[in-house]
Amino acid sequence: MSSGFRAATRAVPRGLSASLRPATAPRASAFAARSYATTTATSSVSANPNFVDIVEVGPRDGLQNEKAIIPPETKVELVNRLSRAGLTTIEVGSFVSPKWVPQMAGTAEILTKMDKVPGTTYQVLVPNDKGLDSFLSHLSTHPDFQPVSEIAIFTAASEAFCKANTNASVAESLARLAKVTRRALDHGVRVRGYVSVVITCPYSGQADYGVVRDVTKELFEMGCYEVSLGDTTGTGTPTSVSEMLEIVSASNPIHKLAGHFHDTFGMGVANAMTAVNAGIRTLDSSVGGLGGCPYSPGATGNVATEDILYALQGSKYEVPGDLDAIAETGFWISEQLGRDNASRVGKALRARKLRAQQQEAAAAKGRSKL
Ligand SMILES: [Zn+2]
Repeated sequence: MSSGFRAATRAVPRGLSASLRPATAPRASAFAARSYATTTATSSVSANPNFVDIVEVGPRDGLQNEKAIIPPETKVELVNRLSRAGLTTIEVGSFVSPKWVPQMAGTAEILTKMDKVPGTTYQVLVPNDKGLDSFLSHLSTHPDFQPVSEIAIFTAASEAFCKANTNASVAESLARLAKVTRRALDHGVRVRGYVSVVITCPYSGQADYGVVRDVTKELFEMGCYEVSLGDTTGTGTPTSVSEMLEIVSASNPIHKLAGHFHDTFGMGVANAMTAVNAGIRTLDSSVGGLGGCPYSPGATGNVATEDILYALQGSKYEVPGDLDAIAETGFWISEQLGRDNASRVGKALRARKLRAQQQEAAAAKGRSKL
């Protein structure tokens, strides 16, 4: 079955859509030539103001928070399936100590072995200077890694969460990240920022949206090209997400913000649509709804990529990715992890497919009796 949902935006590299965004941040001049030399997209597609980019975070944010640990070869296969399915931005893994996050062991190996599809941006999470050292040394010994020239850094909008997550206050974490960002930019590596717990914090409750706004602003000022606002606990509703975005976008350009919604209360799709309708044009999601959050007890995974694609189908918005292929990948990775597929759309598509197969088998049986 084909949903006919492969958008014409397959070859649109993130670099191009990003280039439409006014760059307030200094960017290393080497970056453009180095990372996006293979750009082939036509400007007519990339110029679509209703192109919603998907940052597939399943291999990192998703797997990092799954109980089961899968081998690097399976992660390579996951990344390859996602790029083959037409997703243009994939967060591959994290350069974090495997002592702290065993699920993220082998990220360097994945970078070495995965296919590097031209026009696809591959990101890695780098929590600190040490992580950046590992990533840069990896880049220097693998000059063929041109597509992997983007890192993500993270901080939080709550002191308690920041302390628990990074062992630093918000101000200390921002000071550390400014150094990491400066070094990355100096090496021609683009930097994406994450702000966690933008709606509620598992330790201190309701987020202060003014803090979310200010932390976001600092990330832009230090040189992040985009800042992803994370409803890490997944408690947001369309109303609270709207309120948060109104305050944050008063001091930050909405088209440079991304929405990152966990689906704990089943609001992920509604919140993502709220963000898109407010002007956000980048959404984070994970195939099969992989993930959770170790710091947010009970939090389920990110909103499923399949569900986001389905929600935007037939709308004025364009998205990258082949829905059927991504739905199949959701089932495949869920099986590898021994977990249920959390994507409602994935399950519905599979049920529809099974019914069609059964009807076909019944019809064939009927014919053979004739
Ligand atoms: Zn997350």
